[in-house]
Amino acid sequence: MTVRIDKKIVSYQVRDAKKEEAAKAEKSAGNKAEIIRMHEKLERPEGMECLEGATYKIRTPLDDHALYVTINDIILNAGTEHEQRRPFEIFINSKNMDHFQWIVALTRVMSAVFRKGGDVTFLSEELQAVFDPKGGYFKPGGRFVPSIVADIGAVVEHHLKRIGLLEPDEMSEQQQLILEQKRAEFEAREQQDSAEKKTLSDAQTGEVAAAGSKGEASYPASATVCFKCNTKAMILLDGCKTCLACGYSKCG
Ligand SMILES: [Zn+2]
Repeated sequence: MTVRIDKKIVSYQVRDAKKEEAAKAEKSAGNKAEIIRMHEKLERPEGMECLEGATYKIRTPLDDHALYVTINDIILNAGTEHEQRRPFEIFINSKNMDHFQWIVALTRVMSAVFRKGGDVTFLSEELQAVFDPKGGYFKPGGRFVPSIVADIGAVVEHHLKRIGLLEPDEMSEQQQLILEQKRAEFEAREQQDSAEKKTLSDAQTGEVAAAGSKGEASYPASATVCFKCNTKAMILLDGCKTCLACGYSKCG
């Protein structure tokens, strides 16, 4: 990994193996006594210029240039029962300079919130509720995103699930089975209907296969956007609206 130094070097320190070992021993001895929690004064771990993190790429149909979101984490109380991985800082890069000032503002505020400690999961919810008055867009797989900010919020949510700060919303096997059955039933009925108007539906299925590429599940062409997960996966079956993506269901 290359680290670019873009500030003047004003001081330096020579690593002292003995001191480091003593500090390590002290730390492991004091593990039970002191649990480190997230707070504003918490600095990057000494001697560790490198934090673990992940970079996510966001492509939008609004822009030729992708956004790159990097979230770096800090591991508190490593090796103890209180070990916790928390986001520490966020950076967003884009070649599109139109976004420059709000992106800098957003990432600075978010990094500050991360370092304050406490619950940071609200950030992803807040961001995902932001609507662009010019209109949102669909992601591959059929999920509707109301703005670029909301897209960034979804990335933050994904990251927080990855590091265990948010519960992953996995469906039970039974739930998945039910959805698969409903889907099969719906598709069978649609096929019956389309026997009469074949040419039209052929054109539609072709379109959906293209939109749902990249190995993600595509949903029936007639599906509508789900109120809960914003995916174009809601079907009407026996008078009940059911989402094939998240399982949300409403009858009547
Ligand atoms: Zn849904």
